[in-house]
Amino acid sequence: MIVATGVHKRYGTLDVLKGIDLTVQRGEVTCLIGPSGSGKSTFLRCVNRLERIQGGRLAVDGELMGYKTKRGRLHELREDEIAAQRAQIGMVFQHFHLFAHMTALENVVEAPLRVRKVKREDAVAQGTALLARVGLEDKLDAYPSQLSGGQQQRVAIARALAMEPKLMLFDEPTSALDPETVGEVLDVIRDLAADGMTMLVVTHEMGFAREVADTVVFMDEGRVIESGPPDELLERPAHPRTREFLARVL
Ligand code: ADP
Ligand code: MG
Repeated sequence: MIVATGVHKRYGTLDVLKGIDLTVQRGEVTCLIGPSGSGKSTFLRCVNRLERIQGGRLAVDGELMGYKTKRGRLHELREDEIAAQRAQIGMVFQHFHLFAHMTALENVVEAPLRVRKVKREDAVAQGTALLARVGLEDKLDAYPSQLSGGQQQRVAIARALAMEPKLMLFDEPTSALDPETVGEVLDVIRDLAADGMTMLVVTHEMGFAREVADTVVFMDEGRVIESGPPDELLERPAHPRTREFLARVL
């Protein structure tokens, strides 16, 4: 679903991604771990083309993000074409970014109505079902300020799912939550995994990574240091930097 080869990203003179090679298989959960500042969020933002890359290639579902090939040559996509690519990728952030003046249901139906041009009654039926799926069937008419952090994050997940994405990106989805609501959000992500959704999840929840991930990728200083199945990478890391990181977080 994601094939990144030699991805480079700079901000000014700061090299943030120094040649990332990373593959995410369809239907699998990949957890991305690593110290703060190692480039995890930047990589996610490159995957859905919120950032453009300066070197390498990044393909999602076989399409280069931001480019198309015509007569064997690469052409940059227009902004609306990039938006269409991005619409197929759901993103969930640490801070939920819900629309504060809209109810949970309104938050969820907004993009289907405006972007996918779905009929209102269909969008409402789908939105209601999605909010039920994340356990919020009794909160359709609640405003974000009336919801706990865990509930707001579940609305944000339902909102991303409403676009029927083929890939979900999560950037530390539980880092801003009170400890008692972390579990309910991880449960929703676990259910999505069981349903076969392809997901790339930046997380510090090592227990979750161990249980749910098919592959764990450890990044440090803009590079992938190592990757592998969770029981190998988390129990028997090959690289000293991975061992040092895990000793600090486990
Ligand atoms: P992580 O998510 O692993 O904590 P980030 O991807 O957020 O790391 O950041 C990697 C590096 O890139 C950091 O040094 C950060 O300060 C820098 N960085 C991130 N976004 C920007 C930006 N928009 N402009 C300049 N530097 C940035
Ligand atoms: Mg980050």
